[in-house]
Amino acid sequence: MITQCFIALGSNLNSPVQQVQSAVKELAEDRGIVVEKCSSWYLSKPYGPQDQPDFINGVVAIQTELAPLALLDTLQTIEHAHGRTRDQHWGPRTLDLDLLLYGQHTEQCERLSLPHPEMLKRNFVLLPLYELAPELILPGGTALKKFIDQSLNKDIEKLQQY
Ligand code: ATP
Ligand code: CA
Ligand code: CA
Repeated sequence: MITQCFIALGSNLNSPVQQVQSAVKELAEDRGIVVEKCSSWYLSKPYGPQDQPDFINGVVAIQTELAPLALLDTLQTIEHAHGRTRDQHWGPRTLDLDLLLYGQHTEQCERLSLPHPEMLKRNFVLLPLYELAPELILPGGTALKKFIDQSLNKDIEKLQQY
């Protein structure tokens, strides 16, 4: 069964734009994943600790036959290949890949929560996700656009040159 999923990308270390762009390429090269579309890249203020560089964030839509945990394994393998370490909660990172949505599937286990529990609170997720899928219906039946308003444009800038 092929499922449409949305993955959030983020980086604020070691040439962030290159990190996220090469992560999209690596996702596309995976045999189990077809990258459907990629949002613009957004420059945003750090979430959590403020004493770290600004972030580059974006979202990709993919189609995959991988099961949710197998997809998470793939995301974590790519993060690891980018030198991702987990030193500080919400601290600086070369690459963060969060699985936002796996179709309409919901799940709560130790390694995986779906939908990603924080996604609706984060402008750096909502804006690129809305750009890709303005008509998206979330698991539970609510429209994504209900969560989109002007206040989301604070502390975030859409990059035009990429
Ligand atoms: P946040 O999850 O608040 O964005 P973070 O991305 O900095 O914080 P990580 O250190 O990257 O957090 O991930 C911690 C753990 O979260 C991972 O080991 C992973 O198993 C788990 N996790 C749970 N749900 C998800 C999900 N939907 N996507 C990615 N990881 C998830
Ligand atoms: Ca994250
Ligand atoms: Ca993460």
